[in-house]
Amino acid sequence: MNLCSIVSGSSGNCTYIGNEDTHLLVDVGISKKKLEEGLKAVDVDINKISSILITHEHIDHISGLGVMMRKFGMKVYGTRETLMAAMNKGIGKVDTSLFHFIEPDKEFVINDITIRPFSISHDAANPVCYTAKDSKDKVSVATDLGKYDDYIIDNLKGSRAILIEANHDINMLEVGPYPYYLKQRILSDFGHLSNDNSGKLLTNLIDENLEYVYLGHLSKENNYPELAYETVRCIVKDNVSKESGIRTKLAVAYRDKPSMMV
Ligand SMILES: [Zn+2]
Ligand SMILES: [Zn+2]
Repeated sequence: MNLCSIVSGSSGNCTYIGNEDTHLLVDVGISKKKLEEGLKAVDVDINKISSILITHEHIDHISGLGVMMRKFGMKVYGTRETLMAAMNKGIGKVDTSLFHFIEPDKEFVINDITIRPFSISHDAANPVCYTAKDSKDKVSVATDLGKYDDYIIDNLKGSRAILIEANHDINMLEVGPYPYYLKQRILSDFGHLSNDNSGKLLTNLIDENLEYVYLGHLSKENNYPELAYETVRCIVKDNVSKESGIRTKLAVAYRDKPSMMV
């Protein structure tokens, strides 16, 4: 199973997951042109993408949804509340027969990939994140969560690759330019994971299976790639014992171009 962040950040999110036979996207907060360029750069034929999994209706996750449905007729999976909310957010006229309603904790299958949606704490209608498993590997995408708990850890555990949120540095956010209400929203249990919390969550996930971790959904105003990387790396280093078998590689997903396919 492969995973590749096409774009990741508070301005837009789109992740490719797939294997030889099945090609999917998680979220399409990206223009058609950018998506075509991004997929081409990592050698994926956009015409082979059969389905899009939507996590929630915020614009940085669905801005390209309407276009993609109209142009390519891709099937769209999401909770009923998410897809209804997306319809009200100006995705334009779409063929709603392409919608497939899913529920948290109820696995479903697309060809040879089993998808598991799980609930996240975020200020959206009925948001979920996804893990995807085929006969070989499990990969996960976990962004836009205000907090994590054992339920989140249980769902992500056993992944070989994860795209995980490291949204903001708490100090930068607190002294930064955002208005008070927005700072409160981001810091709340229904906001976003800070670099610190991202590192702490990761210490619960690192095992001999986990080979690749991409930090994603970085805030443009309240974070820097180097800061996110160093903060998470230090927390992991301090908390994960150097047993043999740990081979996790850490990197930051780019805001505006694809990461390496892993
Ligand atoms: Zn969001
Ligand atoms: Zn988001």
